[in-house]
Amino acid sequence: EGVVADAAITGYTCAQVTESEGYVGNVTLGFKRQPPESQEDRDLIKQMAESGKGIGEVIPFVGICPAQIPEASEGHTVEAGVVVLATGIKPYTPRHGEYGFGEYDEVITLPELIKIMGKKKDTTTFLELNGRTIKSVAMIHCVGSRQIPGIHEEDETGYMNEYCSRTCCSATIQAANIIRETYPGTRVFDFYRDIRTYGRGQEELYEQAAKNKVLFLRFEAAEAPVVTQNGGSNGHPLSILVKDTLTFGEGVEVPVDLVVLAVGTEPNNVSDLAGMMKLPVGADRFLQEVHPKLRPVELSVAGVLLAGTCQSPMDMGEACNGASSAAAKASSLLTRGYVELDPFVAEVDLDLCAGTGSCVKACLQEGALHMVEIEEDGKKVQKAEVNAALCTGCGACVAVCPENAVNVKGWTLKQYEAMVDMIVTEERAA
Ligand code: SF4
Ligand code: SF4
Repeated sequence: EGVVADAAITGYTCAQVTESEGYVGNVTLGFKRQPPESQEDRDLIKQMAESGKGIGEVIPFVGICPAQIPEASEGHTVEAGVVVLATGIKPYTPRHGEYGFGEYDEVITLPELIKIMGKKKDTTTFLELNGRTIKSVAMIHCVGSRQIPGIHEEDETGYMNEYCSRTCCSATIQAANIIRETYPGTRVFDFYRDIRTYGRGQEELYEQAAKNKVLFLRFEAAEAPVVTQNGGSNGHPLSILVKDTLTFGEGVEVPVDLVVLAVGTEPNNVSDLAGMMKLPVGADRFLQEVHPKLRPVELSVAGVLLAGTCQSPMDMGEACNGASSAAAKASSLLTRGYVELDPFVAEVDLDLCAGTGSCVKACLQEGALHMVEIEEDGKKVQKAEVNAALCTGCGACVAVCPENAVNVKGWTLKQYEAMVDMIVTEERAA
């Protein structure tokens, strides 16, 4: 609401960045706004319209609409000194058949359960769902998280989520507590690999769950619980079979009316943006900061900062901390009014440069090195030119120049050659 009310902030809904040019202090972003295309987005817009809420008002489970939805495609550009990325995460979607998901109507995800319970106002003895009385609920942790090669399957793009999603343990246990406290007749069985309620105040949720008589059963990754259909023979539509390591691997069968999958989180797909802005992406598909402790919200692309879960799964408090750090970093860059460049960047000796372009081909930093036409002795010739704001001083261009015309400032190729000669001489002498 504060963002919407702030005259200095302009929100662009339904916007997608299509172009990015420039460097820190001088970035031009091109983007288009267009009416929502996906069914998911259209559903959100419908919910906003039906909520009767206006721009800037909170709509539960939908969010805040910061501006009008565009009715036709529009192109825009903005000039910026710094870019902060807050591309976020999405819940993991279980594969068809994973713990019975998609096969049995009684298997739902935790976000679905939270949404359903958020809308319920009743306080009956048992949880009621779609006209069914839920006498027992199974909650299964680590669905789509902490996946292990050889045990879990890769997704259709060949990826596996080997990381812990970090928020699902606490969210699951909180939901279990709400069920037990609001619908005391409904029993809750919690199937987990490890409990990771690591945040402030979250361990208390775990203790509260024990007091609320949530029953915990622990399983090994290689022997995950199996969800089967009962055919209603014992009054419950589903059963969970598990080897409970808390009772030394005893086989346990738990009849249940509802299975809730504590799905993990995955980064939103930023491959287009990463390709366009040359952003480093980790093996886990999250954007990769320069250093997790020393430069936690900076990317190796100068002037591009990270806010929130685009860099790893995190809870609300951590995401807000990350966003505050990015805002502080952006302010410090912008208020100074100038940008301090790295002193160790490439420089081209124009007298030696023969215009072969080998260095430009070797440079991986888009725009750091390019060919320019200059006049020399009355003739037009091609020479390499460095953009010091984009050069990272990696030295790849130095190594490939056939004329030895490029050096990284502070170090000449001759110095390196002298060092190598000395090492070789010492080795020979030894
Ligand atoms: S937070 Fe808990 S449920 Fe989620 S992936 Fe980590 S251990 Fe599993
Ligand atoms: S030092 Fe690296 S980044 Fe800089 S111009 Fe040479 S190859 Fe490009």
